[in-house]
This record gives sequence, structure tokens and C-alpha cells, in this order.
Amino acid sequence: MGVLQGLQDSATHAPGLTLVTPSGRRVGPLRLGRPRGDDVEIARADLAAILRSAVEDQAYFIFGDEVTALEQDEAGVDVSFLRSPRMRFDLVVGADGLHSSVREMVFGPEQDLVHPLGLYIATMSLGRPAADPASVVMYNRPGRSLTVHPVNGTAGAGFIFRAPPHPKAAYRDIRVQKQVVLNAYGVTDWAVPELTDLRGQVEGADDLYFDAISRVQLPHWSRGRVTLLGDAASCVSLFGDGSSLAMSGAFTLAEALADDPNRLAAALKRYETHHRKAATSRQWGYSLAAAWLVPATQAGLTARNLSGALLPH
Ligand SMILES: Cc1cc2nc3c(=O)[nH]c(=O)nc-3n(C[C@H](O)[C@H](O)[C@H](O)COP(=O)(O)OP(=O)(O)OC[C@H]3O[C@@H](n4cnc5c(N)ncnc54)[C@H](O)[C@@H]3O)c2cc1C
Repeated sequence: MGVLQGLQDSATHAPGLTLVTPSGRRVGPLRLGRPRGDDVEIARADLAAILRSAVEDQAYFIFGDEVTALEQDEAGVDVSFLRSPRMRFDLVVGADGLHSSVREMVFGPEQDLVHPLGLYIATMSLGRPAADPASVVMYNRPGRSLTVHPVNGTAGAGFIFRAPPHPKAAYRDIRVQKQVVLNAYGVTDWAVPELTDLRGQVEGADDLYFDAISRVQLPHWSRGRVTLLGDAASCVSLFGDGSSLAMSGAFTLAEALADDPNRLAAALKRYETHHRKAATSRQWGYSLAAAWLVPATQAGLTARNLSGALLPH
């Protein structure tokens, strides 16, 4: 796709993962990534900028708008937008993420297709450099992990925790989201150098991201001239290389369309048959990853830290 060099140039260069036990002992750094060494870790905004510049001359972008209705017939799809005039397309690819509205409009309600896994994630930037710029540092208590992640000179915090489901409205209100994070983390002294005032920093965060970690499962990814891609089609929870899958899925879709431009249904079927195998195999790695990253009990945590200590050997 001609983007690899740009991705490598913008990589975060955080090759290690250090575990900090509840008593403050450090395990690691463990080497992150696959033995093949072809992983690139990159900040989301950098990835978006690189992808955009790769197709800037060939694609037409509309920003600050959203799709509000889709009406298809045999020859095309009429798309209504919140702000822009209605337009007609040969094909609509819903690549609008875990809470896809294209999916909701064409394939069915979110509650039938998106399955929360009993884990939540929140992230925020810390606005200061990471104490350890070469390592992702992970602190755990039973059912909770707190990760400090160096990203190009500054630190980001990640909170992943187990909790019972909340009413959907809670996901939309940032005050509720902050309170949910503080309920899980605010009562413990985490001894994290970048988060000396955890309560104040969470309350003051202006870029908090919060969501329920979920898996998306649909019997079919295409209906007529509308297809789904990436998290909208097959979110694998965040433990399964979702960005890589979204990109390889886009490539597979593009190849199938280019090979069979006059037989849309056949091309979409080929895309799904091929890419579903890759997505499905990643979806099942979730339980193991969750048990390793967020052990639910003290015994599980101790076993995980022991396995981490043994890993380099
Ligand atoms: C905290 C976190 C950490 C992660 N870490 C990793 C990781 O290390 N490695 C990895 O591979 N994956 C990771 N993932 C998963 C990864 O982010 C996703 O799998 C990936 O972004 C999916 O890409 P996508 O293009 O399908 O959807 P998204 O990246 O979610 O993009 C969807 C886009 O659609 C837009 N949109 C939504 N609704 C509308 C609408 N109605 N109209 C117009 N636009 C709309 C959104 O604004 C967004 O820009 C992580 C996820 C999270 C939450």
C-alpha cells in the first residue's frame, strides 16, 4: 500500500512492557511484538494522517458530517448526510467503528450485534513525559490494570478494568465516565509517578476516551450495495490487532472489487470469505489476553507476574 515507511518513521518506539507488582517490584521489560519483528506501534492520529495523505489526490473527503440515512436499489445507494446534500454511490462501505451507524441502519440494532465482554477501557493523555520512555509500564490490582504508555515524548494512561454492565447512557456522559473510572481506581494508592494526583488528573482530563470492550458478531457483512469493514464488521476487542485487521480487510476488499468490478455481489462475498477467517481467529484470543492483562483475582495476578518473570527465559 506504500505506507510502511511512513508508519515505521512515526513508530512510538516503546519496545518493552514492564510489570509492576502490588509491592512495587518490577518485572521486565518484556519484549513486545511478534518474533517476526514486523510490528509497528503508532499513535492513532499519526496513522490517520499517513493513510489520508496516501489517498489525498484520489479520494474526496467530507469532514464534520455524518451519514443519517441510506436507501438502496439495484443500481446504487442514496446517502443522506446531516449537513451535506444527498449523494448517490455504487457502494457504501461502513467503516465507522464499533458503534457503527451504517450497521445500525442496514443490519440491525447495536444491542443484537455488539457484545460487551465485562471489561471497560479508559485512556487519557498525562501531559508530561513518561518516567520510563522505553517501556510500557503496567500496574495491576485484581480486576484492574493501569498502564503508562510513552508516546513520542509524552505519557498516556490506560485503565482497563472489570465491572458489571452499565446502562448505555453512561457511555455518553463524560462526568459519569470519569466517576466510573474513579470508582474503580480512586480508592487505591497506585504509586504511579506520572499520576500523583489520580483523582484530580482524571477529573481534569479533557481527552478522556471511555468504552465497554466489546466483540462484534454479524452473520453477514454485506447487504446489497452496503458492506461493513473493520470494527463495524468484526471488532475483536482491543486485544486483537483491530487496526491491522481493519487495514488488511480494506486491502482484501479493494482487491476483490478490482478483480471483479462488474460483479459486486461476488466481490463482496469473496472479501468476506477471505477476511472473516483472519478476523474470527483473532476474536478468540480475547479471553487469554484479558486473563493476562487484567487478572481477576490476587492469585491470578501472582501467577501472571510469575509467568512474566519467566517469560524472558
Ligand atoms: C484504547 C484502545 C487501544 C487500542 N489499541 C490497539 C492496538 O494497540 N493495536 C491495534 O491493532 N488495535 C488497537 N485498538 C483497536 C483499534 O483502535 C480498532 O480496531 C481500529 O481503530 C478499528 O478501525 P476502524 O477504522 O474499523 O474504526 P475506527 O478506528 O473506530 O474509526 C471509525 C471512524 O468512523 C467515524 N464515525 C463513526 N460514526 C460515524 C458516522 N455516523 N458518520 C461518519 N463517521 C463516523 C469515527 O469518528 C472514526 O473516525 C485499540 C482500541 C482502543 C479503544
